[in-house]
Amino acid sequence: MYPLAHIGYTLFLVELVFIFTYIFQKLRNRDRVTIQWGIRYVSLYALLLGSLGPDIIDKAISLPITGNGRYVGHSLLFNVVISLSVLAIFWKNKRIWIGFIVGWQMHILLDLGGFIPWLFPFVNYEFPERVHTFWEMLQLPSVYLNEIFGSLCLILLIMLYLHRKIPVRNMLKEDFFKHPSYLKPIDKNGKNI
Ligand SMILES: [Zn+2]
Repeated sequence: MYPLAHIGYTLFLVELVFIFTYIFQKLRNRDRVTIQWGIRYVSLYALLLGSLGPDIIDKAISLPITGNGRYVGHSLLFNVVISLSVLAIFWKNKRIWIGFIVGWQMHILLDLGGFIPWLFPFVNYEFPERVHTFWEMLQLPSVYLNEIFGSLCLILLIMLYLHRKIPVRNMLKEDFFKHPSYLKPIDKNGKNI
């Protein structure tokens, strides 16, 4: 799967979880429930970095060695090590570690359709050589359709944020903050109290 699909699907799924949480709470007749955006709870940058992380590592470092875009960055061991490291380093800022770990798991989940060296380096894998170049891959329907759907997810999310008047500039500037200003409590209409 290529970058736009990874980013688009991951961000969209995070928002979808919160939208369903809202609907579920509304159905239980909780009057004071307000819709909360996932991005309020996870750092956008950490989510992006996590959702592209395995490919950044493997496509940049491992591709020239093995001829395959999935290597150590897609293994279970690396997943556990990097998730625990990020958790330990950013323990006090859960927006960062939750975002990164969710992003990383989503990447692996979206890659499930193909070869994954789960038990590397404990198992000797025959890494399948890539037969297509980057551009040839992009012409495969399974690749470009996912890129198109991923882009649509991103466009939809941007429209939703704009519609909800999320202060995008603050969001991008304060994304790594533990308590960004746009996380102030909000009332039923979504306005800051
Ligand atoms: Zn991947």
